[in-house]
Amino acid sequence: MSSDFQLYGEHLRSYLSDESRLTGSFKQISYPCSTEELIAVLHDLIAAHTPFTLQGARTGISGAAVPKNGMVVSTEKSQSISSIQGNEEEGFYVIADAGARLYAVNTAAIAEGLIFAPNPGEETATIGGLFSVGAYGSNSFRYGSVAASVSSADILLPSGEIITVRRGENLFKEKGVFLPNGNFLSALVSSDNQTICAFTPQPGSDLLDVFAGSEGMFGIAIRLKLSLGTAPYNPKAVVFFFTNEDVGAAFGNRIKKTGIPDFVEYFDKNALSIIDRQKHVLPKLKDLPDFPLDAVCAIYIELTSLFAEETEEWLMDRLEDFEASGGREDYTWAAFGQYEADRFRILRHALPEAINIRIDEIRRINNDIIKTCADITAPNADTEEFLSYCKTTAASPGIEHYVFGHLAENRLHINFVPKDRKESCLAEEAILKICRFSIRNGGKIFSENGIGRTKAALFKQLVSEEELALLQEIKHFFDPDRLFNPECFL
Ligand SMILES: Cc1cc2nc3c(=O)[nH]c(=O)nc-3n(C[C@H](O)[C@H](O)[C@H](O)COP(=O)(O)OP(=O)(O)OC[C@H]3O[C@@H](n4cnc5c(N)ncnc54)[C@H](O)[C@@H]3O)c2cc1C
Repeated sequence: MSSDFQLYGEHLRSYLSDESRLTGSFKQISYPCSTEELIAVLHDLIAAHTPFTLQGARTGISGAAVPKNGMVVSTEKSQSISSIQGNEEEGFYVIADAGARLYAVNTAAIAEGLIFAPNPGEETATIGGLFSVGAYGSNSFRYGSVAASVSSADILLPSGEIITVRRGENLFKEKGVFLPNGNFLSALVSSDNQTICAFTPQPGSDLLDVFAGSEGMFGIAIRLKLSLGTAPYNPKAVVFFFTNEDVGAAFGNRIKKTGIPDFVEYFDKNALSIIDRQKHVLPKLKDLPDFPLDAVCAIYIELTSLFAEETEEWLMDRLEDFEASGGREDYTWAAFGQYEADRFRILRHALPEAINIRIDEIRRINNDIIKTCADITAPNADTEEFLSYCKTTAASPGIEHYVFGHLAENRLHINFVPKDRKESCLAEEAILKICRFSIRNGGKIFSENGIGRTKAALFKQLVSEEELALLQEIKHFFDPDRLFNPECFL
């Protein structure tokens, strides 16, 4: 029932934190079991003017779901999904509750020969959470962000009203945007100033994409319509290992320029070695073959867009290119077909998990430490220059670090594992430098995993006064009493 709040107790410890390892506190928690209950709980809180932190599955890595006193509402039990609907001509879709898990959507789609294309790594994440942090997946080079596969969302606003925002129907003009309920959100948006936050609107921005990424600060997505694609036929995956970093980067760049693979992922030497070290801890890694001992980086590609004959030809060309760059066939892994390709996908997902395990080891000695990380883009930069800048800057303070990510989109993850406060400060300085490079090159910062509480201070050092004022204006328009996620970064 809507008012059936449970008192905070020891067994609820996991709700104090998320995958950022930041820890908070709360007084009460509610986990409604359906969308109807969720709406009722939120209406009660709004009526009582009670601020609250909304949680999905708490797999986020920005600390946005970490409460700071007060009330928590968890969507994790509101997780129904509809049967698959639609048809070949108009497309297939599924309607998911906020708390539906990614694995449930994937399972339902696959059973009908379909896919939820973006493919973010964490399958226990909720659909509402993935939408609200602006998540991407490894397939984003071909299919775009998670939000791009959301064709509409029912959003509960801080006023208590529920609006259905349909993709393409509410586009920002220079003076603002009409909401589906006819109200006008007045906000001066401009394409003259570069924005660094992925959900800051510009003329032409879709209202749906402003809710996506805003980490629950403007409204709560209670139900989402997800577009499904046709499952690819016989995917192929190849991992190329390199003994020279520059050669690896140049090869990755050439592959990206063909525009053919669904993704081009990069792993630096530290990323390869932590995966190797964690093989005994993470059971899912135990069936992976060993990496070549002298590998200093790897490029991992998956492709589904070609027919069998063309694929073979394209792959032969890549192999020739690899060998011409000094590579050897035994420095490649190849997987043909969904089952085999899925084995390699573990690589992508296991890496952030392995880094988190490493953070937990450090935290047993120094409990104040959390991962210092950033996910940034630099669309206008040369890929090799971007990679080289990130790697050199990340290495310069001499702190344990990992560089990996989506090379095809110039979207990289920089993760530091600091040992103490001094190292945390040095890591933040390096992240700041990398963010400034990103901004100089037309990029967005923290645009895949959110800003949340852990990156709020960094964000405020980088954002312009105009952009911050615009975001605050939008927050004030929707949530003048600051009831929704008040401890997040706005
Ligand atoms: C091992 C691992 C791998 C990952 N791989 C990827 C990856 O490949 N790509 C990627 O982009 N991210 C990845 N992530 C991070 C990813 O962004 C989060 O896992 C996910 O988006 C968070 O979903 P959640 O349900 O756990 O949300 P939470 O962590 O609970 O919440 C995150 C934020 O969203 C808000 N929120 C949650 N639900 C709603 C809702 N219904 N309406 C409005 N706001 C809401 C919360 O208030 C909070 O601000 C990974 C994380 C891990 C741990």
